Amino acid sequence: MSEKRSRDHLPGRELIRVEVFRLNYGHKGVVRSLSTNYEGCLVHWVAGKNRYHEGATCRNCNGKGETTWKGYFPAEYWDAQRSLWIPTVGEITSNAELDMRGFFGRGHVFEFTKGKKVDKKEPKLEARFLRKYAPETLRPPFDVLPVLRNIYNVSVIVLDQDNPAPDRVLLEPAENIPEPAAIKPAPAPKPESDGAKVDLSGRGVRELAEELDKQWNGTPPKNGQAR
Ligand SMILES: [Zn+2]
Repeated sequence: MSEKRSRDHLPGRELIRVEVFRLNYGHKGVVRSLSTNYEGCLVHWVAGKNRYHEGATCRNCNGKGETTWKGYFPAEYWDAQRSLWIPTVGEITSNAELDMRGFFGRGHVFEFTKGKKVDKKEPKLEARFLRKYAPETLRPPFDVLPVLRNIYNVSVIVLDQDNPAPDRVLLEPAENIPEPAAIKPAPAPKPESDGAKVDLSGRGVRELAEELDKQWNGTPPKNGQAR
């Protein structure tokens, strides 16, 4: 259902020509979804421009081109200067879709960010969920296909492709719980010496045993023999 001049339009009210919402590098924007979901297609870069990929019979690549995913949804962007929500077609990349996956819905507001180009590297479009509005307070969703047919200059566009990127694996970090204190070995029992003082410092085991033996019976044991 596209918004047409002949319907629901009060004379004298401003009409907005709906275009695809695209950010320049180094810019941010706030977009509110009007639909419960986004839908996607595959495109490829040919002669300095994204072209709609028509599948196995694609005239642009004979079905063999390297494709990227683009998602679309009817939306509004926030014009902070005028304090107005301006109707637009939200366009998301594979990376932005991963940011939004599981958070998307009618009335959901996202901040889109496209970083500055550094050394010819093209930063990815990022999306961050901000808040949601009650769906019943919004205008109905409108048909984005005429806008897309216009920008891709094709007569038919089918939005039936899911983003091929798999779910991100998201896990919480673990807190650093200290290890239990190392268990100290119990001190060796002191030999009973009937009160005789034995200086143990600096002695080997054999010397100690001989010393003790002398104290008990005056004769050292033979090496390695049990008494
Ligand atoms: Zn193609």
